[in-house]
Order: sequence, then structure tokens, then C-alpha cells
Amino acid sequence: MGAPEAFTSTADIGHFIGGKPVAGGARRQPVYNPATGQVARQIALGGQAEVDAAVAAARAAFPGWANTPPIRRARVINNFLALMNERKDALAAIITAEHGKVFSDAQGEVMRGIDIVEFACGIPQLLKGDYTEQVSTGIDNWTLRQPLGVVAGITPFNFPCMVPCWMFPVALACGNSFVLKPSERDPSAAIFMAELLREAGLPDGVFNVVQGDKAAVDALIEHPDVAALSFVGSTPIAQSIYERGARAGKRVQALGGAKNHMVVMPDADLDQAVDALIGAAYGSAGERCMAISVALLVGDIADTVVARLAERARALSIGNGMDPAVEMGPIVARAALERIENYIALGAAEGATLVVDGRGHKVKGHEEGFFTGGTLFDHVTPEMRIYKEEIFGPVLACVRVKDFAEAVELINAHEFGNGVACYTRDGNIAREFARRIQVGMVGINVPIPVPMAWHGFGGWKRSLFGDMHAYGEEGVRFYTRQKSVMQRWPESTARGAEFSMPVAE
Ligand code: NAD
Repeated sequence: MGAPEAFTSTADIGHFIGGKPVAGGARRQPVYNPATGQVARQIALGGQAEVDAAVAAARAAFPGWANTPPIRRARVINNFLALMNERKDALAAIITAEHGKVFSDAQGEVMRGIDIVEFACGIPQLLKGDYTEQVSTGIDNWTLRQPLGVVAGITPFNFPCMVPCWMFPVALACGNSFVLKPSERDPSAAIFMAELLREAGLPDGVFNVVQGDKAAVDALIEHPDVAALSFVGSTPIAQSIYERGARAGKRVQALGGAKNHMVVMPDADLDQAVDALIGAAYGSAGERCMAISVALLVGDIADTVVARLAERARALSIGNGMDPAVEMGPIVARAALERIENYIALGAAEGATLVVDGRGHKVKGHEEGFFTGGTLFDHVTPEMRIYKEEIFGPVLACVRVKDFAEAVELINAHEFGNGVACYTRDGNIAREFARRIQVGMVGINVPIPVPMAWHGFGGWKRSLFGDMHAYGEEGVRFYTRQKSVMQRWPESTARGAEFSMPVAE
């Protein structure tokens, strides 16, 4: 197979409503290629009018789709699965062009999205209800799950394919219609998937995309015909959407930010631990909600581990993500790059040791690209802002701790609880870590433990607002509501009016 083809379209990106592309109004914003720093195309930013149109299309399509037998809905999802597999490299190239991550990482993201599409194909099994015969003489009782109606998803820039796929394949398979509001930084993947859904045979209006920013999100939150909101993004916005959505009477799951720790115990395989830290801290330029941004180095291994990390961080191959030799691409936007480099200055000012300074990194031939190098801090302490706050860039903070108990205490005291990892050869340490840690997703010698499609994704503490995790069986529960039916046939009993609470007879 030859080199992947880059995504170079310059056409404006609009919405997808009622089964067709819609250009949108005059409010536009540039979309950049972060590797070149150049404007690649323009996005139309929707507002109330586009949200109203999308929700109306979704509402009109809902009864027919909800009434379609689950196995026939699954067949449409299965057609979509085939198309995703067929076009996955084109989709990955779109992601690299707008997000900046290296092409192989974009391919991985698409595959993890495809996993969930495959999971959603099993919806007839997942929607099976419970049935109890003879709960009382002549009476049966069963529970079933029905779709909610029009549901909406609001997604972040860092996984423009995978995070929407945490939501819409499951929501659609359950019989809902959907309005997606993708990130305005990398909006083309959503339109690409909308086109594939149409090609797969999804009826018009069942899946819609409204591009935009806060204005579109506000319109979705306030819209009386939107029954549920799934949000993934930063914590302050997640919390606000959770609160406002609940006030508007909607079901909400809102996944927020993170500060993921990796504990390295003295007995760990240090080669594996260093490899894991380098990949998990600097992969995708640290712009993953499951990236490792804190290394807790236990006991006397710190000097060795920091020296090895420094050597590897300095040697990172940084450049355009379409170049197969590159390990780390650019940052998504100039403002994000400035935020990250300001945090590096802050860490140095706070007294952390700046072992490797990635600031001002230039890539030959891409001088305007939004690049920074890998940054490594040592002697970081829990009072520092670079320890407490999410930087969301390729910055790894090493904290030296005396023992396992101190490591656990620090992690449990942190406001975020998305992902965590522990590197050790000791089975009991591993077991106790998994049991005691106050974090939603745990890796034992696995640095980025993103759960598989049938297990569900979600953090704890301020990394998730709401009761249910994304995808897996919790996703099915989120996108359906339970109904209980109790039935008796007139032939089974003959009784008069009853004035006391009925009990099993
Ligand atoms: P963001 O919060 O800036 O944006 C997320 C979405 O919200 C986008 O669609 C954006 O248009 C919209 N938005 C932005 N500002 C808004 C406002 N004031 N009101 C309403 N909507 C608004 O996040 P981002 O920069 O796109 O993504 C990075 C963040 O997402 C990081 O904090 C990262 O940890 C988090 N994230 C979390 C998970 C998870 O599963 N917990 C997964 C991926 C990303």
C-alpha cells in the first residue's frame, strides 16, 4: 500500500440536516492545518436557526426510526460499519489535516470508533427486556427499554471521529434520532460520517450535524424537543452543561477534563515503564483525555527514570503528522500552543526543575506550524498549578514519592479521576491499587486503559458529571428509558373492585 493521501479540500464546511448538506449563514471561522499554520478552509457557525432546523428534522424522523425493528436498524449500522472500514484511511487523513495528530494515531482513533459501531450492531441482544411469568396468579410482568427521542452530542476537538462514535452509533441503534455538534476546530470528520450514514441507508433526518460554537450549544440546551445531551470536553463546560441541561429537564452525561497519573513502583520493568510514559505523555502531543501527565516515581528509582525520560523526550521526532517517520504532530491551535507554553513558564517559576524545555520548537519547512517540543519537569509538588491543572499538551510532570501509600493518597486527593496506571510486578500491589484508587479507568502495566466498546468509558470525580458512562451497556441505558408492563387477561381471574394494595397471590 502506498503513502496515504492527504486531505486538501478547500471547500467551506457546512451543516448536514435532513439528509443533505446545508451551507449555513454568514458567520464563518477559519479551520487551520496545524502543521502548516495556514487556513485550510472555512466553517459555517450555526446558531438558533440551524439547531431549530436540525431538531425539527430529527423530530420528524424519530417515530419511523423508533418503530423500525431493532434488527433492521442494526443492518443499517452494519452497512455503516462496512463503509467506515472501506474509507477509514480517508477519514484518518481528514483527522490529521485538521487536528494534527500523526496518521497512524488517527487510524487508531478511527478503529476505536469502529469498535463501537460493531458493538451497536448487537443492539437486538442489548435491548432484550426482562420477563417474569406469574408475578401473581394470572399476572405477568416485564420490562422493556424504549428510545428517548431526539438526543444531541457535543464533542471536543481531540477525537473528532472516536468521541462522536461513543455516542451516535449506540443512540441510533437504540432508535433515537441525533443532532451532533462537533468541535469547530476539526469539523470535517463529522460531515464525512454523516455522508456515510446516508449511504448506509439511514433515513433522512435521523442523523444531523450542526457546526458551531457556544451559540449552537446554548440552542441545543434550551431546545424543548431535545431529550438528552451527551457532552465531552473540558470540566468547566461539562459542569455548566450538566447543570443547565438538568435544569431544562434533560438527561445529561458530561465528561470533563483530566490529570492522569502513572505510578512507577521500584519493582517495575523500567524499560516498559519509560516506553509507556513517553508514548502516553507525548503521543497525540498530550492532547488526549487519557494522556499521562504526571509520573509518580516511587522510592529510589527517580534519578534513573528521569534521566531516561529526558533522553527520549529530547529525541522525539516532531513534524507533520502525514510523515510516517514523525512521532508527535503539532498542537491543534496557536492559542492552545500559547496556553501550553505559558504553563511551562509557570512551572519553572513555581520552582519545578525544567529538565527538557519544549518551548519554541521549530520544524524545518513548517515554520508557521503550531509546534512545541516534549517538555519534562522533575521535582514537581502537589501545591504547584502545573500539578493541579490540566495542561492538555506534551508536558510530563515527575513527582517523587516515598512509597505506594503516598502515591495512592495523592491520586485520590486530586480533583480529577479519569484514568490512572500503575507499573509493578507485584500482584498484591496491583490488586490493592485497582481496589483503592478513586479513578474511573485503571491500567495495570497498561498506560492508557481506554475501555473496549462493550465495557464503557467514564471517569470519576470532576472528570464526569452524570450517572452513566459513555457507550457499552451504560450507553444503551443512557439512550433508552425503562418501561414496566404488568398484564392480566380477563379469563384468568374474576374479581371485584380491590381497595387494598395488591400483593402476590
Ligand atoms: P472544550 O470544552 O473547549 O470544547 C468541547 C465542546 O464544547 C466543543 O464542541 C466546543 O465547541 C463546545 N464549547 C466550547 N466552549 C463552550 C461554551 N462556553 N459553552 C458551550 N459549549 C462550548 O474542549 P476541547 O478543547 O475541544 O477538548 C479538550 C478537553 O476535552 C480537555 O479538557 C479534555 O480532557 C477533554 N476531553 C475529555 C474526555 C473524557 O472522556 N473525559 C475526552 C476527550 C476530551
